[in-house]
Formats: sequence, structure tokens, C-alpha cells
Amino acid sequence: MCVYNCIYIELITTTHHNHSSSIHKKLMGIPHILVLPFPAQGHVNPLMHLSKRLVQHGFKITFLNTDFNHKRVVSATNEHVNLEGPRMRLISIPDGLGPEDDRNDLASLCVAMLRTMPSLVERVIEDINGLDDDASEKISGIIADVNMSWALEIADKLGIKGAVLCPSAAAISAMQESIPKLIQDGILDSNGLPVKNRKFQILPGMPIMDTADIPWCIGDSTSMKIIFDYVVRLVQWSHLTDWRLCNTTSDLEPEALSLCPKILPIGPLMESDDNLRSLGQFWEEDLSCLSWLDQQPPCSVIYIAFGSFTVFDPLQFKELALGLELTNKSFLWVVREDIDTKGNTKTAYPDEFQGTRGKIVKWAPQQKVLRHPATACFISHCGWNSTVEGLSNGVPFLCWPYFADQVFDKSYICDVWKVGLGFDLDEKGLISRWEIKKKVDQLLGDDNIRGRSQKLKGMIVNNTLEGGQSYENFNKFVEWLKE
Ligand code: UDP
Repeated sequence: MCVYNCIYIELITTTHHNHSSSIHKKLMGIPHILVLPFPAQGHVNPLMHLSKRLVQHGFKITFLNTDFNHKRVVSATNEHVNLEGPRMRLISIPDGLGPEDDRNDLASLCVAMLRTMPSLVERVIEDINGLDDDASEKISGIIADVNMSWALEIADKLGIKGAVLCPSAAAISAMQESIPKLIQDGILDSNGLPVKNRKFQILPGMPIMDTADIPWCIGDSTSMKIIFDYVVRLVQWSHLTDWRLCNTTSDLEPEALSLCPKILPIGPLMESDDNLRSLGQFWEEDLSCLSWLDQQPPCSVIYIAFGSFTVFDPLQFKELALGLELTNKSFLWVVREDIDTKGNTKTAYPDEFQGTRGKIVKWAPQQKVLRHPATACFISHCGWNSTVEGLSNGVPFLCWPYFADQVFDKSYICDVWKVGLGFDLDEKGLISRWEIKKKVDQLLGDDNIRGRSQKLKGMIVNNTLEGGQSYENFNKFVEWLKE
């Protein structure tokens, strides 16, 4: 019995039903790669961008999501999606959690995945490779999210190529590689927990961090220990390959990359510049915000989005709504249906909130929004994808990190690259409406920040042009995959 769900038919061009044999012929001789993201939006997106680039370079991709995310991707996809033709197939397997389990509980998710997924991934490859005697149809390599680098053991076992992509900053890999030193220096104990609250820095030039913000310090001490153990094993597995790619550039993170010279920057991984819906989104993009943006003057709109995980306390949500009102500026605000910590499906906007100068959507085509000339600044949770996407478009940031690596990314933005500002908390521990207005005014009035953002944009984009480092690294990688 087939171990995976497959929507090969749905996501290839509709002509496939009638011309399957001619398509099959076309696929012969094409290298076939299995791509395995960690089950989260900020991981699926960069791996999907990488997959699409590989398709452009002549590869066939089988993109393996968990069943849970596969369903979301398929239902967020409609007839306008940028169909990749027979070279892109989306399939899925279970993540090991039950239907009601909380998939935002990262410790349980990691335990369940490790218990369930490796043997299934192996069977998927064996199934696909056993289907056809034609060697050219067989999967010849795996590109796994670095957070799923256990898959490299499967690649080793089956004698196929294995590579990993780090979808967060290279600095996070540098920090993970530095775990033994952090323990030796007395910053962490042997369970990966901070010995005491203090500041530390991995290398001069990298952000100064607070031990409380170490990315695996999430949840209670049991969860932290589970996540830390998972991270330690990921580091070991990731050394099984010489091909460790990262969605970053050498200008952004020279120090982190010098500490981990084996990591190859290939960023920024972005969607291609087209007018179609992106593939891989968990929620359907509301494209109406693009025509709304078309009606706004250049550089006039505040874009507010907090990625796929962030939730809001109702009091803080109200302050944000009233703060946006106070700015007296146009705004485009992404309010996911599950953004409220209290689980209310309809988040309560305060009575005073008119929202007349704003547009609120449940999920935006973010890269297109950031590329739009009307966008003036980005109030962001500083997830790494959002960070790279904002930087690549020269959009200055107001940083509102929530957890994990976002706090670290914020330090890069505010202290190292100096292309954004943070918010201060009031005596109640909230970011007040007045603080929001103050920082919006300060950011938009600061020509130096805007200048630096534009300069950084130029440097980042140059990496992907012929001769740029990311361009060269990607091409080397493609050559190796094709060997
Ligand atoms: N995103 C989007 N529409 C939205 C909000 C986010 O397309 O309304 C995309 C965004 O472009 C990014 C991803 O979702 O690629 C979020 O990843 P990130 O690393 O920024 O944050 P995470 O969701 O992992 O916290």
C-alpha cells in the first residue's frame, strides 16, 4: 500500500489527465529530488522557493509535507496558482500527532515526528523508486530542512545525495555549533538551559544576546530539554553532508559565516517576480490588498504582519489597533483568524477603532506587498523570512519579536544593520498606542535608516545576480546535484 498522500494530478497542468504518457516521456532523464521542509510556514516557503528554482534548472521535485500542512497548502491553493507542471509534485505523510494535538507545541511535534517520519520517508523513496524501472525517474537526492536533518541518515542508507537548507539566519546555526563552547564558558548547563540570566555574544560583530532569548528556551523546562536534545542531534546529523545551504547572504552575516565556513549562503530565496499566487501558503492570500495598495501614494503605507505563529493578548491587540489609528497613516494589517491568545475566532477590535484608513486581511501576499512602492515600513515579528523579505525590498522595520530566533533577528535589524527600531514596553508590560505612534513617526522621519535600507537592498540583490556569491553557490550546488 502507498504510504503517502499525493496530489500529483491536482497540482500539475490540467492537460495531464489526457496526456499522461507524453508527460511521462518528458520526465525521463530529469534528476528527481525529494524536498522535506520542517512543518511550519516559515520553513515551507523558503524550501518551496528553492524547489521552484531547481525546477527552472531542469529538476523534478517531490515536495513532502506533513498531512496536516499538505491539506492547508492544497486548500489555500486555487485555480490561479502558479502551476509548476509535471516537474512539481506535492505529497504528504503523517507527522505522528493526533488530529486534535497542538502542532504549535514544538517539543511534542519534534518527538512525534522523530518517532514516525524517518521510516515513512524511507518508504516513500523506496515506493517511488520501485515504481519504475527507468533509473531517470528515481529520486537521486534529498534536500531537507536543517531542522529535519535526520533525513540525511536515510540518504546515506539509500546511497542517494543529501543536503540541508537552513531557513533561519546563519547565526542560529553558528549558535548551535557553539553549544559545547557555551557550556564550557558556563553560559549553558549540560541540558542547554541558561545557568543564569546574562548577555553573551558568539563573535564580535554578531548581536549581543540575552540568555532568556536562546531559541530553544521555549515553554517549560521539560519542553526546553526536549527541544535542546533535538537541536544537539540536528547539529550532528547536519554534519553528514558537505552541502549545508542557508537563506542568507555573505554581506548580511559575514561573522556567522566565518564561524561556520561550511555553510553556503544562497539567499535571498524569494518567489519569482510574477503576478500569480504563491505555492505553499497555509492560508489563502487575499490579493485585494494589492489593488488597494495601487491606490495609495508611494511610500505611504504601514504594513503590519506577524508571521504564522504569533498570537496576541487581547489588551495588546487593542493597543496596536489604537496605535495604528493614532499614526494617522494608511495601513495594511494582517490579522490571522487564530491570532488571539484567548482563542477567539473574532478578535475584538476596540470600540474607538474606526480602521477607515486601513485595510485588514487574514493573510497577505507578503512578498508582493513588500515589493509594492506604496509600502513605507514593516511592523514585523522579525521571523527570518520576513526579515530577509523586508531587507531585499529596502523596507525599514519596526521590530516586534515574539519568541525563538525573532529576538535575535531584531538585534541584527536594530543594532547591526541599523535598518529598524524596536519598541519599549510601558509599566504594564505592553507596547502602548503612543509608543507605536512615536516609533512610526521616528522611523519614517529618519533618512539615515531609509538610506541604509536601500543600500542593504542593493547589496543583497547583487548576491543573486551573475557573479554574486549566492548565485555562484547555487550553481555549484546544482552541478553537484546533477553529477
Ligand atoms: N507571510 C505571508 N503572508 C502573511 C504573513 C506572512 O505570505 O500575511 C509569509 C511571509 O512572506 C514569510 C512567512 O509567511 O515567508 C513567515 O515566515 P517568517 O519566518 O517570517 O515567520 P514565521 O511564520 O516562521 O514565524
